[in-house]
Amino acid sequence: MSENDFIILDESDAQDGGKDQEGSEKKDGGKEVVSSGQNRSGEKEDGYEKICFICHRPESVTGRMIDLPNNITVCPDCMQRSFDAMTNGSVDLNRLMNIPGVQFLNMSDLENMQPRQQKIKKKKEKPKEFHQLDIRNIPAPHKIKARLDEYVVGQEYAKKAMSVAVYNHYKRVATDTMDDIEIEKSNMLMIGPTGSGKTYLVKTLARLLDVPLAITDATSLTEAGYIGDDIESVVSKLLAAADNDVEKAEQGIIFIDEIDKIAKKRNSNQRDVSGESVQQGMLKLLEGSEVEVPVGANSKNAMVPLTTVNTKNILFICGGAFPDLEEIIRERLSKKTSMGFNAELKDKYEHDKDILSKVTVEDLRKFGMIPEFLGRLPIIFTLKGLDKDMLVKILKEPKNAILKQYQKLLALDEVKLEFDDGALEAIAEKAMEKDTGARALRAIIEEFMLDIMYEIPKDDSIGAVTITREYIEGTGGPIIELRGQEVPRLGAGSH
Ligand code: ADP
Repeated sequence: MSENDFIILDESDAQDGGKDQEGSEKKDGGKEVVSSGQNRSGEKEDGYEKICFICHRPESVTGRMIDLPNNITVCPDCMQRSFDAMTNGSVDLNRLMNIPGVQFLNMSDLENMQPRQQKIKKKKEKPKEFHQLDIRNIPAPHKIKARLDEYVVGQEYAKKAMSVAVYNHYKRVATDTMDDIEIEKSNMLMIGPTGSGKTYLVKTLARLLDVPLAITDATSLTEAGYIGDDIESVVSKLLAAADNDVEKAEQGIIFIDEIDKIAKKRNSNQRDVSGESVQQGMLKLLEGSEVEVPVGANSKNAMVPLTTVNTKNILFICGGAFPDLEEIIRERLSKKTSMGFNAELKDKYEHDKDILSKVTVEDLRKFGMIPEFLGRLPIIFTLKGLDKDMLVKILKEPKNAILKQYQKLLALDEVKLEFDDGALEAIAEKAMEKDTGARALRAIIEEFMLDIMYEIPKDDSIGAVTITREYIEGTGGPIIELRGQEVPRLGAGSH
């Protein structure tokens, strides 16, 4: 796999459709050169394509049209049929009339034909947003991680673990190495606080790999027969995400969020029907089984056709915040140390912020996940809670960072939008208070950007706006610069 596969597609390249810079297309060592704006037949390329006079199909469907006098074009199929009709005995008008879309060829109609009437507007192809990774020829883990880095800030360990797991998974799928040495499925379990980017990581991954993704909430799943979505409904969601293409769905990703909510209840002697049985019910799905799902609907009933989806190659990723898990880990670790003489160590665990990363399967079992379930999620990793620095980075660094989106919007009005460092920190501090990770950022920004987005386009003379800490904290205003000169307005800023 060459490095070039990962170069982001320049938009201008995509629009050119492979033409070189002068807009000409060269073939056979430059023998065939067609100049800009023309197609191969030398006609002006005006975004229209010809349609068949008889069957009305466009040239992109029928193949090259045959030009007749009076700007009439007929597709090769209809032309052939017309010849057949004539050569099988004498000209049989009844046969001619059986050609789809033709009542009777009236020569006077042909006279009135306008060339435009026989053409339809072509759809413009949208330029691709970015190069996706090819799952049939899956790139090495470090390359997958490099692409994740463009969008996801921090969470280095999670990105690394995920890249390796995805690499192994699609390698296994592509080579179908299931014969002598059976490679285990790389289903994953992600543990991390709310808003730390679990869902975002999975969504980014699915987009990069161009595979369908279904996201579901474990709390909505119940055993078949109870009220709620039965477990297999996640597969039908995936099928819908794959546009009902079974083959595509079978290589997709299913993300089950809030998996900690289906833990067995601890310290209870009663049999826990809800959580444990849902875990039980998911075992087969995680491992690989044939599931009958309705096509184009989310419930099975007599009216909808069913199809079979095999979950063998579907990658399952489970995620959850697992509150109180830290306590379980701490307990285990300090138990170990209290057997020795190391009292300081115990103290250390009390204040270890990264304690979650020391999780073991045993801790998760204590939390209430059943061993068979954990056994089917061999890749377990944790995500860190976001600190202030990470939140600031999330604001400005990812390819589609929120600030970049606002900057682009205002740039369309030719206004330059800047945020000074104080402003970014103030936003991050406000988000930290809400304790919902990066999720709070957008709400905070939207709140104060509303005024900016409303007021700025009113005044054509404004050339630049700088958002300051004072503006975020409500003690001052943004710095406004008029075109060609710098005039502070609306209160003081830090510039
Ligand atoms: P979780 O699933 O862990 O509760 P999400 O993935 O839904 O959290 O995160 C909420 C939003 O926060 C995402 O849509 C994304 O925009 C942003 N976000 C969270 N973590 C990160 C990160 N590490 N890098 C970039 N953006 C992030």
